[in-house]
Amino acid sequence: PLRATGIEQAFGNVVVLSGVSVTADRGEVVAVVGPNGSGKSTLLRILAGVRPPDRGTVALPPAAGGARRLGYLPQRPAFRSGFTARDTLQFYAQLLDGVSGDDVVRTLDRVGLAGVADRDVGSLSGGMTRLLGLGQAVLGNPGVLLLDEPGSGLDPGMVERLFTVVGDLASDGTAVMVASHELPAVETHADTVAVLADGGFRAVDTPAALLDDTDTDSLSAAFLRLV
Ligand code: ATP
Ligand code: MG
Repeated sequence: PLRATGIEQAFGNVVVLSGVSVTADRGEVVAVVGPNGSGKSTLLRILAGVRPPDRGTVALPPAAGGARRLGYLPQRPAFRSGFTARDTLQFYAQLLDGVSGDDVVRTLDRVGLAGVADRDVGSLSGGMTRLLGLGQAVLGNPGVLLLDEPGSGLDPGMVERLFTVVGDLASDGTAVMVASHELPAVETHADTVAVLADGGFRAVDTPAALLDDTDTDSLSAAFLRLV
């Protein structure tokens, strides 16, 4: 599995993560939820290897069926303008073993961007840019997929499509960790919800168990009880 153990991270004297441990097994969708500023993005960046933690370790599983070990969608993906959406994904595809031009076309279709494949990425809307980031992250079927707020700015149809893409990858054996404020979608699609607040996990459980434990009838209500 993807496994983080004893992660500690402070910025100046503000402790953001104080000994956080979490795992995502192959085929499991783990949603990290928590208030703004609770450290979700910091945790995902550490898991993605973008920044080392003050303390703690991260272990990645070997690549699953895909050509790629890890895919990461940052909270604010940015692409270099002057290139089309297709050429942008093609650029990433050629960096990966065994990912073809056909895979690029399929991926654009999968994330709902087939219609804008030939547009300059600089002209895409915020939501479309995030979808392109999703496409970049899922190219090559990574063994671990880390998504930071993939649904923000997306219309309801695209949020559903996004979670369908994520579920399909998980079915193929990808370990998924997704930070999200889309609690209804998380309630429906996540296997495990990890509630981050005040430097640590308040709860880590299935959506049903969290509702049960908090005596609430929605994950949003459970969230408000827990944080
Ligand atoms: P949101 O839901 O708004 O995306 P988040 O849970 O992802 O929030 P983080 O972005 O991880 O939260 O930030 C957690 C805390 O760490 C915040 O107080 C933030 O200001 C602080 N922080 C994050 N990165 C840095 C940095 N590079 N330097 C200083 N402080 C930082
Ligand atoms: Mg964040």
